[in-house]
Amino acid sequence: MHCHSLRSDGALSPQALVELAAEQGVSHLALTDHDTLAGVAEARQAALTTGIDLINGVEFSCQWQNRGIHVVGLNFDLTDSALLAAIGRMATIRQQRSEQIAERLGKLGFPGCLQGAQRYANGAVVGRPHFAQYLIELGVVKDFNQAFKRYLGNGKAGDVRHQWPELAEVVGWIVAAGGVAVIAHPLKYDLTRTKLVALLSSFLEAGGKALEVISGSDQSPDQTRNLAALAGKMGLYASVGSDFHSPGMPWQMLGRTGQLPDTIAPVWQCWS
Ligand code: MN
Ligand code: MN
Ligand code: MN
Repeated sequence: MHCHSLRSDGALSPQALVELAAEQGVSHLALTDHDTLAGVAEARQAALTTGIDLINGVEFSCQWQNRGIHVVGLNFDLTDSALLAAIGRMATIRQQRSEQIAERLGKLGFPGCLQGAQRYANGAVVGRPHFAQYLIELGVVKDFNQAFKRYLGNGKAGDVRHQWPELAEVVGWIVAAGGVAVIAHPLKYDLTRTKLVALLSSFLEAGGKALEVISGSDQSPDQTRNLAALAGKMGLYASVGSDFHSPGMPWQMLGRTGQLPDTIAPVWQCWS
């Protein structure tokens, strides 16, 4: 219920991704590219030929108490006009950020950064790594490390934060489109137990339904048990996903996640 194609920051086309998932024995799959639905149609076509049950998916970026949080949306109506408008707004936020980065780099005397970075992004969303590639091409830095250390890393000119929408708003889009909202990879936010409970309370209040109890293929049984217990206590369904980005990352391999404990209701009960 969580993976990425090259329509966001993954390595494989939606079709190649679905084919790999089928090879890996996955029966139900949600393609959840960051803030875009651009890969879903191609994934659906591939799902038909491979016999995979494809669930509509997306992974939204948002903020809660000034922290970046990711919310996965599952099984929503792909044609919901408010959701499509929201997706457009997310693209604008990303575009404005890359324009701002380019403008700041321009003031430092580096010309053509936006076009240069876009060339490296090759149709995908422009990010700091693409600016780094262009700065290397210009010859002003010798490698990625130097590009981030001097110009793009924390506190440098190219360190521009996205102004993501609030958690409650993003959850609202998913719910209004008939979908199920899921808090993605809860262990990745460095939250204390108290803060995590507070996050989940806000999320429930906004209409959120599920917690990613298993994220990735190397999560410990203890972590899974703890998250399952927390989800159960708070009345949340449990989701599970690899967060697959590329075949070279074995800790996020498709079809290699652990089993959800049978004490917890799986998220697919919401629609099946
Ligand atoms: Mn990603
Ligand atoms: Mn994420
Ligand atoms: Mn992800």
